[in-house]
Amino acid sequence: MCGEFVPDEHEHVVNTESRNLMCTCRGCWLLFTSNGAGGGRYLAVPDRYVSLGAFSIAPGSWDELQIPVSIAFFFRNSTLGSVAAFYPSPAGATESLLPLDAWDRLVADNEVLATMESDVEALLVRRDSTHEEAYIVPIDACYELVGELRRLWKGFDGGTEARAASDAFFGRLRDRSA
Ligand SMILES: [Zn+2]
Repeated sequence: MCGEFVPDEHEHVVNTESRNLMCTCRGCWLLFTSNGAGGGRYLAVPDRYVSLGAFSIAPGSWDELQIPVSIAFFFRNSTLGSVAAFYPSPAGATESLLPLDAWDRLVADNEVLATMESDVEALLVRRDSTHEEAYIVPIDACYELVGELRRLWKGFDGGTEARAASDAFFGRLRDRSA
């Protein structure tokens, strides 16, 4: 953004028009935090990890969200005024339209979701026969997971390596949000 050297460990901002993530130095990132002077088109991705320990999803609601796989993330798009659902696939992040009333019911059942920042924070959910967990995470963490799974994906369900990568990723989430 400014030409300053950006180290391996760095922050991101979201361009809310192009939906791109940009790598930034700390100084630029601070400009676009909610307290910063930047405002407008760019938003700093925050560094908040919240475990929804008692995540509640009513029976049938997961089906209603029309997510065909066990991992998905959701975020509010301030430009479109809608909530989008994404899930990992061999092609990267696949988008699915989310019925807005389904999202409203999810927020009603899990009040902390009302604190989620549009465009830059996401609800990340893993739900399968052995896991039921949900977190509020920075949006860049979701794309990190999607990129890793895309790289490792094999066959119909992702395969052993992708599953191991998911386990490691969610392990880190548990530690960070503890
Ligand atoms: Zn900079």
